Amino acid sequence: MASSKISKIFDILSRVYRETPPLLKYSNPYEMIVSTILAAQCTDERVNQVTPELFRKFPEPEKLSQAGLEEIEQIIRPTGFFHNKAKSLKNFATAITEEYKGRIPSDMDSLVKLPGIGRKTANVVLGVCFDQPAIIVDTHFKRVTARLGLTTETNPDKIEMDLKKAVPEKQQTRFSGLVNYHGRYRCHARKPDCENCEIRSLCPFPDEK
Ligand code: SF4
Repeated sequence: MASSKISKIFDILSRVYRETPPLLKYSNPYEMIVSTILAAQCTDERVNQVTPELFRKFPEPEKLSQAGLEEIEQIIRPTGFFHNKAKSLKNFATAITEEYKGRIPSDMDSLVKLPGIGRKTANVVLGVCFDQPAIIVDTHFKRVTARLGLTTETNPDKIEMDLKKAVPEKQQTRFSGLVNYHGRYRCHARKPDCENCEIRSLCPFPDEK
């Protein structure tokens, strides 16, 4: 893949989206992981409505690991699938407390061994919280990179590997944020706004439709 294409996409989107703050609200890696577990099949807005109370009651993993499932469920109920999510949160908090003394590890191998954490969440933790190079393959990233012809893979792990090779390390986390924003605000799943798209000239998708 031509690195100049990646570079042009990066430059244009950097100007369009000067900042790409995370849409989930959290203030440390523990809160980030809890929010991400709750965000499965739920909107970020709804997660942000329940997390202030959750973080107030359980400000650290140890407190969450000691909580009763019903107590957690009562707070997170509006996010849906609350029985499973409460179990996931408690299992995650217990593992962090027992194996890492309450501190979130900062390496991929340890993160993906934790209950409820896949590569996507691990990459958000590494990229956003620990400032390490990270390609974050969420639903928006998957759709936009495919339309742009940046990968032909459909498996998230393989997409990640493709883009890890193509995007310079120091730009990877920012690139992930830019592509995510472009997917949310321009390259929508059903009706992408190709007519007004800032990277239209670099994208084969409109001509292939
Ligand atoms: S031209 Fe259309 S399909 Fe391509 S990135 Fe822009 S909005 Fe998405």
